[in-house]
Amino acid sequence: MTDSSRPHFDPTFAQRIPAGRLPELLRAMPKAELHMHIEGSLEPELIFALAQRNGVSIPYASVEDLRKAYAFTNLQSFLDIYYAGASVLLKEQDFYDMAWAYLERAAADHVVHTEMFFDPQTHTARGVSMETVVTGLHRACVDALPKLGVSASLILCFLRHLSEEEAFETLEQALPYRDKFIGVGLDSSEVGHPPEKFARVFARCRELGFHLVAHAGEEGPPAYVWSALDVLKVERVDHGVQSAKDPALMKRLAQDRIPLTVCPLSNLKLCVFPDLAQHNLGALLDAGLVATVNSDDPAYFGGYMNQNFTQTFAATGLGVQQAWQLAANSFEGSFIDAAAKRAYVDRLNAVFATF
Ligand SMILES: [Zn+2]
Repeated sequence: MTDSSRPHFDPTFAQRIPAGRLPELLRAMPKAELHMHIEGSLEPELIFALAQRNGVSIPYASVEDLRKAYAFTNLQSFLDIYYAGASVLLKEQDFYDMAWAYLERAAADHVVHTEMFFDPQTHTARGVSMETVVTGLHRACVDALPKLGVSASLILCFLRHLSEEEAFETLEQALPYRDKFIGVGLDSSEVGHPPEKFARVFARCRELGFHLVAHAGEEGPPAYVWSALDVLKVERVDHGVQSAKDPALMKRLAQDRIPLTVCPLSNLKLCVFPDLAQHNLGALLDAGLVATVNSDDPAYFGGYMNQNFTQTFAATGLGVQQAWQLAANSFEGSFIDAAAKRAYVDRLNAVFATF
């Protein structure tokens, strides 16, 4: 898309909408979520309900006890509890129920499109079949449009702390269901597991026609973002906030319009930034990057989409124009076709025009 054909912010929106109504606007505007791990949407209540339904014992006495354990200091201490929570998922209906709970919350936040990550290796390693995982999640995606007005698709993520051989095995297991997911990603413990570790499996996925994304530059250095782009050839970078340390990388991301799926409350919880006021979301937008706001693992990080928007705007002083830009970026950065993107931006403009 050329600069002139790309949607632009109408400055009269900012003149007309008072700053005091910003939180309401952030909640009401249509938006897409592009970085949300479905296993990270498991609320303690659902973990307990599923544990009971499936007769799985978990090392927490109560919902409150489990919620208290959500005090992470870094990515690894979060991942430890994340994998314990996922252990209650055994049957196709469990995966459906988990996805449905998220999709209902997304609809309430005016998320009109979502591309959800799932981690099959977290489940296949426990003896749950790929079929169970994918069909349960996909059935919820299919129901979401008619029942909730949310279009939803799936992106299969490889766990980067495991080997590339295991990623290849996972891909083989998933290929019979290739019509049920649109792309592949790379997640879990970043530092020490650079993107190039997965060069061959991403090349194969590219040949197969999947969309490609990867987590890079969350805790890891700008070099990981470069290799996600140049070695893995991703179309979108998940997190990418460390790119701001490298001016040449910032220029590349802006020129090639590579979207960054930024997750402010996750960054806060995992101490990527000391507080939200110091988050670099505004700087990324100022540099012309296609930055977006997302919830990452909302059950664990203290908020779904609208909480990410309202808390970040309150802390950083971003305004009406950035609200519009972030929502427009979320549609531009999605993997829907150009006509659907235009239709969503028209809806966005209609909300701003009549707010
Ligand atoms: Zn993530």
